[in-house]
Amino acid sequence: MSKRMPVVFVSHGAPDALLKAPDTVTSWREIGQVIPQPAGILVVSAHWEARQPSVSLAVAPPTIYDFSGFSPELYHMEYHAPGAPELAERVASSLSSIGLKTDFHPNRGLDHGAWVPLRAMYPQANIPVTQLSLTRNMNASANYKLGKALATLRDEGILIIASGAITHNFGWLDWRAADDQAPLPMAHVFSEWVAARLMAKDVPALLDYRRVPYGAEAHPTEEHFLPLLVALGAAGKDTPLRYQPRFAYGGLSMDSYLWHDA
Ligand code: ZN
Repeated sequence: MSKRMPVVFVSHGAPDALLKAPDTVTSWREIGQVIPQPAGILVVSAHWEARQPSVSLAVAPPTIYDFSGFSPELYHMEYHAPGAPELAERVASSLSSIGLKTDFHPNRGLDHGAWVPLRAMYPQANIPVTQLSLTRNMNASANYKLGKALATLRDEGILIIASGAITHNFGWLDWRAADDQAPLPMAHVFSEWVAARLMAKDVPALLDYRRVPYGAEAHPTEEHFLPLLVALGAAGKDTPLRYQPRFAYGGLSMDSYLWHDA
């Protein structure tokens, strides 16, 4: 593998993936193990949206419990990686190259879209990490362009992790689904469509995902799909490797993708 760092997209699932989705956790662990040691990690999570792009300057980012109604055990889990204020500055200068002004948040911590997969990928929590927000009202192609602007960070040893979901419709979930339950057909169809278009590097189709069967239904709101488009922009011409754990709650595709220089 060349020096250029890979790009990762993770479906972070429900907040209890660490407790209830062992094959997802295994896939995150594997991804962490095949990637060369990053100098720093930038996470773009569905769970931070701001009026304009925002990065955190936190020196010791707190673990954010941005969910409710899940097992008490989750609220005792912490992730104490060092922050990455210098990386935050680099992110801002990369985004200024496409005319975006970035806000600096003094102490924003890691939401569950970040710390849940990071606990499996980098359990030692020894790699500096910061988050970049999504920007409200920024459309699919603008997110793709933003990802392209971040690609230069890959040459500086920075791992970009985009965290969202391939399917994210709460109406599709069966909270009592058995582990081996077949996924909802609509969720399965859209998840396979995404995989096929990613493998074909068909960016125009992916940017237009709401027009294909079950695309808009899979994402009543866009924030869990947009991180995939950020990853796609940062990935450039690289070919993705698909990790395909079983669906969570019958309707949440848990697919992750890893792009690296062939
Ligand atoms: Zn989420």
